[in-house]
Order: sequence, then C-alpha cells, then structure tokens
Amino acid sequence: MHFVNIAVENSTRLTIYLSQLNLFFFFSFVLNFKNPKIVSHFNVFESKLTTNIILLGTGTPIIDPDRMGPSLSIQYGREIVLFDAGPGLIRRAKKANLNPETLKVIFLSHLHSDHTAGLPDFMYTPSVEGRPGPVKIYGPSGTQEMINNIKKAYSQDVQIRVNGYEQGKKENYDFEVIEIEDGKTYVENHIQILPFLVEHGEWPSFGFRITTPDRIIVYSGDTKPCKNIIKYSRECDVLIHEVYSSSGLREKSIKWQNYHTHMHTSAIELAQIANKIQPDLLILTHQIFWNTSEKELLYQITNLYEGRVVSGHDLDVF
Ligand SMILES: [Zn+2]
Ligand SMILES: [Zn+2]
Repeated sequence: MHFVNIAVENSTRLTIYLSQLNLFFFFSFVLNFKNPKIVSHFNVFESKLTTNIILLGTGTPIIDPDRMGPSLSIQYGREIVLFDAGPGLIRRAKKANLNPETLKVIFLSHLHSDHTAGLPDFMYTPSVEGRPGPVKIYGPSGTQEMINNIKKAYSQDVQIRVNGYEQGKKENYDFEVIEIEDGKTYVENHIQILPFLVEHGEWPSFGFRITTPDRIIVYSGDTKPCKNIIKYSRECDVLIHEVYSSSGLREKSIKWQNYHTHMHTSAIELAQIANKIQPDLLILTHQIFWNTSEKELLYQITNLYEGRVVSGHDLDVF
C-alpha cells in the first residue's frame, strides 16, 4: 500500500539519519580526544579548517627591496585578520592569493611609520577594486586621529571616484576605527585577538595573542624584552617575534646602541625569552641584520635555544 511504502521509506531515512548522527558524534569525539586544543563548541565540519600564517612583510625602516614593511595575515577558512600595515602589504597579499575583498580587518601594533605607511594602501586600493565596507581598523590610542588625517588627505580622491565617471560605491570607503585596550579580547568570528602592552619607547605599543580553533599564535609587534611577552605567550603554538643581531649592535654608535637596547630585542635576549616560553615554532620577523648574515643571526639564537626556529621571509606560510 502507498501508506506503508511511505512509512517504510521514512523509517529507512530515519535509520540513515541516525547512523550519520552517530558518525558525527564519533568523529567529534576522536578529534577532540586527539587534539584537546580544539574547543568543543567548534563542530566537526569547522575543525577540518586550519589556520594559516602568511608573512606579508618582514622588513624594518631600513630599506631592503626584498622585504616589505611589517605585516602579517592570520587566515582561518575565509576569515582573515591582518596585523600591521607596512608599505607593500596589499601587493604582497595579492601575491599570496588573498582576495582583496576579504581584507577587511586590521590590527596595528603601534603607530611608527614602518608599521603604518601602508595604511592608505590598505584603506583605498581594495576599495577601488570593489571591497565593500565597513573596514575595521583596530589600533592604539591615536589611531582615530591618524585615520582622520588620512581620510582628509584622500577626501577629494574618494569624492571623484564616487561622483565621477568611475561611479564607485560610497560604502566602499566606510572605515570604522576601534582603539584597543590592554588585556581586552576582541572577537572577529573564529579569531580571537587579545592585545597586551609591550615596551617600545614613548608610544603605547601592543603585542597580540591570537587564538583560532586550532592554534594559539603570539605576535610581539616591536618591543624590548618585557614581562607581558612571557605572560601572554604561555602555551602558544607559534611565537612571531622581532629581533636584531647581537653582534651587529656592538658595531653601532653609542646613540644607536642606546636606542636599540631600549626599543627592541636582541638575538641573545630572544633566545632567553624562547627558553622560558618554549613555543612549538619561533618565527623571526622584523630582523635587523646590519652586517650579520641570516645564518649568523639564526646561530645567535640556536646556540642558546634548542627549539624550532625559522628566520621569516616575505610570503612564507606557516
Ligand atoms: Zn618597526
Ligand atoms: Zn616601532
């Protein structure tokens, strides 16, 4: 009978559905058991995704044509959060196959020009290509004023692009600024960002503890050795840290020696920090080599620290 057939069909569907549900719970259990770092509320489908770190720029104010200004991308699925806006970041992002329309969130560690000279590029280049707003710019106090000034500098350009032949969309030029606080967590979908104060001279400067469903990443920003780096790097998987050559510093003038020891972290100091933190991977960025080779810089660290260390280059993916 027709009614019986439907009943049989429905019960078969129910059996299939229940066995799929069992498989779902079984795999959820296995994944969580194997990797306790996966937070239980992320379901089994999301846990297939992994986090990518892309170094977009590893340079410093010292001009090196092979290294753009400091910038990095943390990507989880289609979600992307950028850190720092060194010059060249948008073209590097394109080279890394990041869709310009997805570059909508950036955190600034501090406002030094090497970390912010790419801001107008970040704000306007993808907008011209059609990235819809609003675009979020997180940064220390003073960020709002800097963005207001950049907007003022480009106000005529935006006006012509929107009202002229180009007929650009006004909402593509919508920027939201959030001035960050020490120790407060900011959430961008599956990526949690915890800024913490570091010690980098007169201006407020932040490092970031970034938590995704499968990784804990700490980015130092610019800093001399400080307690917060140790405190906020606890049990991290990856530590991305700035560094200068210990031997190179000895050949600098007293003024520059004084500057660097008060503003940045030497290779020997970084080895001591890494020994306390013991990350699965230490990535060097913002390397100041002076006349030291990359091999020598790495040796200054590996001589004192046995963990895994990589000297980062633009477009490296981890
Ligand atoms: Zn810097
Ligand atoms: Zn700086």
